[in-house]
Amino acid sequence: MPELGKKLHDELNKQIQEELYSAYLYYAIAAWFDAEGLPGFGHWMRVQAMEEVIHAQKFYNHIYERGNEVELLEIAKPASKWKSPLAAFEAALEHERHITGRIHLLLGIAREENDYAAEVGLLHWFVDEQVEEEATAMEMVEKLKLIKDSKNGLYMLDKEVGARALTPPTGFVW
Ligand code: MG
Repeated sequence: MPELGKKLHDELNKQIQEELYSAYLYYAIAAWFDAEGLPGFGHWMRVQAMEEVIHAQKFYNHIYERGNEVELLEIAKPASKWKSPLAAFEAALEHERHITGRIHLLLGIAREENDYAAEVGLLHWFVDEQVEEEATAMEMVEKLKLIKDSKNGLYMLDKEVGARALTPPTGFVW
């Protein structure tokens, strides 16, 4: 198995930073929800943050297993306040759309470089995972739009999403 090409190596390294930034952003949103007295949403975001750390770990493993060096880049400070729970989930959705773009970019480079080992992990896991990530965030955005300014609705939804469990990824190919 050849080592990763330079362009793919650089972008996979950058993806570790992107996934860890995702975790950082979701922890920031979680902290804001907790401070706002919405611990269920806070829990949901913390579970999401833990998933992002697992994503970062997958990229780390693949770089390492290919015989390349893992380089950790600087992680930016995320925002700390949002206008409303809806705005917070809209920010999460927008961020996941950015991550989907990153995964598609990585897949394009893997194809350019005829790197089948990288391609298979991106295609048969991360592309699907992003469809799910966007759908999950979109579902929350839709629910929050539905309940609008209802305090009761917000309380009920906070209780509901507080039960979210962390499910370890399955069927991963790397
Ligand atoms: Mg991710």
